[in-house]
Amino acid sequence: MVNYLYIHVPFCIAKCHYCDFYSVPVENAGPDATGKYVRTLLKEMKLREGSAGNLKTVYLGGGTPTLLSGSQVADILSGAREIFALVPRAEISIEANPGTVSEAQLAAFRESGVNRISIGVQSLADHELCVLGRRHKVKDAFAAFRAARSAGFDNISLDLIYGIPGQSMDAWENTVSSALDLSPEHVSAYELTPEESTPLQVELAEGVYALPDELLVTEMYYAVIEKMKKYGYLHYEISNFAKPAYECAHNLNYWNRGEYLGIGAGAHSYFDGKRSGTLRDLARYVESIEGGTVPVDEEVNITEQDEFKEMIFLGLRKIEGIDLRLMPESGKLLTNKAVDDLIHHGLIEIKDQYLRLTAKGLVLSTEVMVRILNQP
Ligand code: SF4
Repeated sequence: MVNYLYIHVPFCIAKCHYCDFYSVPVENAGPDATGKYVRTLLKEMKLREGSAGNLKTVYLGGGTPTLLSGSQVADILSGAREIFALVPRAEISIEANPGTVSEAQLAAFRESGVNRISIGVQSLADHELCVLGRRHKVKDAFAAFRAARSAGFDNISLDLIYGIPGQSMDAWENTVSSALDLSPEHVSAYELTPEESTPLQVELAEGVYALPDELLVTEMYYAVIEKMKKYGYLHYEISNFAKPAYECAHNLNYWNRGEYLGIGAGAHSYFDGKRSGTLRDLARYVESIEGGTVPVDEEVNITEQDEFKEMIFLGLRKIEGIDLRLMPESGKLLTNKAVDDLIHHGLIEIKDQYLRLTAKGLVLSTEVMVRILNQP
C-alpha cells in the first residue's frame, strides 16, 4: 500500500528565470482556475481510490500551492482523509512563496491540518532575487516567516540557493546567517542549476550573466555545511539540514526509493514497479479527469538494473549513505573497481555496513555516482 501522497499545484504568479517545474501563470489560467483545479484534484483522488492509504505524508508542492485559499486546501485535505485516510500525526507539508501568503490564510492552512511549511526564500539580497526572476523582495520573505510562526507553524523550512550570478561569499554567508537568525526547523540549500531553455540559461549563454566560478561555489557549499552544523542542524541529505527530529519524512521516502502517489497535472508517481507522470498540460489534464481517465503520459517499468541505479543516485544523497544489508546487489558494489578507487581517493567510505560519500565526495557527488555506475 502506498503511504505517501504528492499533490501538484501548477500555478505561479509568473515564471522564475531558472525554473522548469510544470506551472502556468495563474492570471492566464482562466476564470476560477484554482477552484476548477481543486475540484479536478478531488475527482482524481476518487479515480485513484485504492492506490494509496493510511497516508504518512501529504505534500502540496508546485508551482505555488499558496495561491490556493485556506478553504481550497481544506477541501483537498478533507478529500485525502476521506478517500485515502491519514495516520495520526501524518506530516502534511505545503510549499509557500513569499508575497503570496497572509497570516489569516496560513492560520486556515494550520486549521485544516497542514503542519509543515516550506518557504521559497532563495536569497536574502534583493538584487539576487531579481537575477533569479523571483517576484518577491527580501522583506516579503521575512514577513512570510513571521506570518507562518504567528499562524502556529512550528515546523518551518527555508529554501535557499547559492551560486547565483554575481553572488559573493559574503553575500551568501549573509543570506545563511540572516536565515538562521529566524531559527527555522529545516533548511534546504541548493546550488543554482539553470534548466535548459529557461530565460536565465539563455542569459548565461548570451553572456548577460556569468555563474560564479566553480571553486567559489564549492566554498559556498562547504560554508553552509559548516554554519548549519555550528547551529546544531543535522546535515542529513546533500542539500538538506534539519534540527533533530525535523527531517522531511516525505522527501526521505523519495531518497529511500519508497513508493508514492502523485496527483495533479505534471505529477509523478512510483508504485507497482513503475514510475509514471501525468500530463504537463492543465487544460488536457482537467478534460481527461472530467472524462474519468487519469492522463498518464509517461510510464516506465523499473528493471533490476534501474533499481540499482536509483539506489546509487538517490541513496547516496543521504549523508548516512546506503545500507548495504538492504541492497540485494551490494556484492556488485563491493567488487566494483570504481568503488575501490573512490575509497582510495577519499571520496566515499564503507563504515558499519553503510556506503556513503565523504565530506570530500559530497561536492563531487554526481561524478562519484556516475563513476560507480559506469563500472561493470
Ligand atoms: S521556482 Fe517556484 S515559484 Fe518560481 S516558477 Fe518555479 S515553481 Fe513557480
